Amino acid sequence: MQKKINEFLDLQKIDLNIAEFEKTFETVPSKLNELRNKIDFEERKIINLKEKIESQKLELNELNLEVESANEKIKALEDKLFSINSTKEFEALQKETGDLKRLKLGIEDDQIKLMENLENSQKNLDENETKFDEEIEPLRQEIDELQKNLDECNLEKDKLLNERGEKTKELDKDLLKTYENLLRNKPPVIIPIIGESCGSCFIKIPPQTHIKVLQEEEIVLCPFCNKILISETENND
Ligand SMILES: [Zn+2]
Repeated sequence: MQKKINEFLDLQKIDLNIAEFEKTFETVPSKLNELRNKIDFEERKIINLKEKIESQKLELNELNLEVESANEKIKALEDKLFSINSTKEFEALQKETGDLKRLKLGIEDDQIKLMENLENSQKNLDENETKFDEEIEPLRQEIDELQKNLDECNLEKDKLLNERGEKTKELDKDLLKTYENLLRNKPPVIIPIIGESCGSCFIKIPPQTHIKVLQEEEIVLCPFCNKILISETENND
């Protein structure tokens, strides 16, 4: 049995390498996502600001037209005032002119507020565009580099996985099943005893377990961490 188990040590080396790759690049996909989301968010902000500015300009245009039209109406009414003889009609016209002038003042107040808002939006846009150029744009390069590393790592990992596939063909099927079940926990799966303790969890193993390992007749698991135990001397590489 020990011989059979030892045949798995090469597989274990590959699995350790794969695990190492996975660990090194574990956080890369989420980091990439985070960077991409950040760019999207800042881009969206700028688009929204531009849309806001466009709609504020349109609104301002409308107010300008309203003021123009109020001016025209006021002028027409004032012209009419000269050609009127009846006091009653004169007073009615004067009231109408007054109402229009007040309306116009209200619109002009709105114009001023809107112009201030527009100015703020424009300032906001300028600031965001500057920030984008300085802080966000360089993130694209960071993304490219991370992505390149990740691609390379995945290639290497694929190679290892192929190698692994070839390797498993040579191995005992039943033991492979046990090994792969234990692998879910994470490699290494096969661990030498050190002195009287498990080489993984370092807990002293019971004497009867130790004897079974030395007898080399069956698969012996560490009762504490579930690793396959092998004797110390057999695993020097
Ligand atoms: Zn253990």
